[in-house]
Amino acid sequence: MSQNVLAPSGVAGEAGRRRTFAVISHPDAGKSTMTEALALHARVIGQAGAVHGKGDRKGVVSDWMAMEQQRGISVTSAALQFSYRDTVINLLDTPGHADFSEDTYRVLTAVDSAVMLLDAAKGLEPQTLKLFEVCRQRQIPVMTFINKWDRPGHDALALLDEIEERIGLKPTPLTWPVGIAGHFHGVIDRRTGVFTRMERSPGGAGLAIEEEMDAAEAAERYGADWATATEELDLLTMTGADHDQDSFLAAKSTPVLFGAAVANLGVRQLLNVLVELAPPAEARPTAAGPDQPVDGEFSGFVFKIQANMNKAHRDQVAFMRICSGRFERGMVVKQAGTGKPFTTKYAQQIFGQGRDTIDEAFPGDVVGLVNATALGIGDTLYTGSPVQFPPLPSFPPEHFAVVRTNDTSAFKRFRRGIEQLDGEGVVQVLRSEQRGDQSPVLAAVGPMQFEVATYRLEAEFGVQVQLDHLPYETAARTDAAGREILRSESNVEVMTRVRDGALLALFPHRWRMRTVAGRHPDLRLDA
Ligand code: GDP
Repeated sequence: MSQNVLAPSGVAGEAGRRRTFAVISHPDAGKSTMTEALALHARVIGQAGAVHGKGDRKGVVSDWMAMEQQRGISVTSAALQFSYRDTVINLLDTPGHADFSEDTYRVLTAVDSAVMLLDAAKGLEPQTLKLFEVCRQRQIPVMTFINKWDRPGHDALALLDEIEERIGLKPTPLTWPVGIAGHFHGVIDRRTGVFTRMERSPGGAGLAIEEEMDAAEAAERYGADWATATEELDLLTMTGADHDQDSFLAAKSTPVLFGAAVANLGVRQLLNVLVELAPPAEARPTAAGPDQPVDGEFSGFVFKIQANMNKAHRDQVAFMRICSGRFERGMVVKQAGTGKPFTTKYAQQIFGQGRDTIDEAFPGDVVGLVNATALGIGDTLYTGSPVQFPPLPSFPPEHFAVVRTNDTSAFKRFRRGIEQLDGEGVVQVLRSEQRGDQSPVLAAVGPMQFEVATYRLEAEFGVQVQLDHLPYETAARTDAAGREILRSESNVEVMTRVRDGALLALFPHRWRMRTVAGRHPDLRLDA
């Protein structure tokens, strides 16, 4: 056997040591800080320099667009890969701005688990809830990290109650803090009973100082705080809040950890949980037929497309999550549906501004395919027998605007730009009968998507556009018969989504949709 051919067990072994996850959180909960803190423990693979120290911490986020820098937000997603213990960890970046977009959601189709990061003083915040909802729908196992325990915040038990009551996940703490938020002394590992005292390293930039301490000494040293922690631990045991791997994997319970990313407190414990409990890359459901086993022939799917990441030259990168087999740069793969060959000569690992050529990758890894203009979101790539993964979910848009340009000489570029943004999934493009092709309608899950679209049409295609917002807030799929029925209704419009030809009925609000639906029992409306 030639040396670079791995036996199937080799691929299965590589898949088994992959942990591919995303952090879901509300802006400012500490996602970027946590990313840095995680990377500090790890050997960042091929990314030396990608993660900078504090002073230069914007280097950590994907700040490829001038707009992002202006607003100090991250509107794109990429992956950071590092090794820890015997695993390879892929951390996928979910954009964390106040608005959310389809892009953020799609990242969650490419992960095997998620870390829900909560600010101890704020608990569950709106965007965390929205992202969590996607995890629930996809049954993604979720670990919870309660962050900022070095600052005053809510009571630990109250935070657990909030998780259970508001999102129905049973919290099963793995560690328990000694000291309330703002008086953090360390954590007790609930499985071993061992207390680890934690302290910020001098200057705070390095790994935390950790020291195991026996109970008698801790009791003496921390007095009332220790007594409270042990009482709470008894209470947790009494209420059965113990980790259960099956219910965690079934997305019914969530292991909980406490810490402070900014001081690297509790971060090592989180990494250990990822290694020990988070699911590896596993067999993946296909659109038709049996699940694709990880050690089958190569397969993967595109979950994100991004253009013009490199200012030096125009390019388009398709981000692919590998689902099975071994990926080798240069291999010729096929595009499901058309069976067209695609050469993967320019395969890179991309995080923020950093790029490295990658030569091989395994299930769970993310590969950026450069100059992949032929690829679209959701496309499956494979070698050997055809395989196709289910299409990525389309999220119902809630914001609609007519886009037009007054510059007739720019119309060709305008059209090309709109097509490009549609192909990348930056916005959904709708065709409206009454407005015609000159004035397409943009539909978005979050209004931020409009800003990105406008910015890019101007910056990349040289087209000044105008957006006229439409008074609709909710959309439902209908059919041709439905379109006819709805002609008789006012304040309702039916448009065609260019991407897939779906007919969408737009309503000003949900209750209007319900009234209309009530009047026409035969009307098909899928929200
Ligand atoms: P993101 O928007 O979720 O990426 O949040 P950032 O990582 O940018 O953090 C937002 C703010 O919270 C920054 O000022 C951080 O320094 C601060 N922060 C993050 N983690 C902690 C923590 O554990 N403790 C404290 N006190 N501040 C934190």
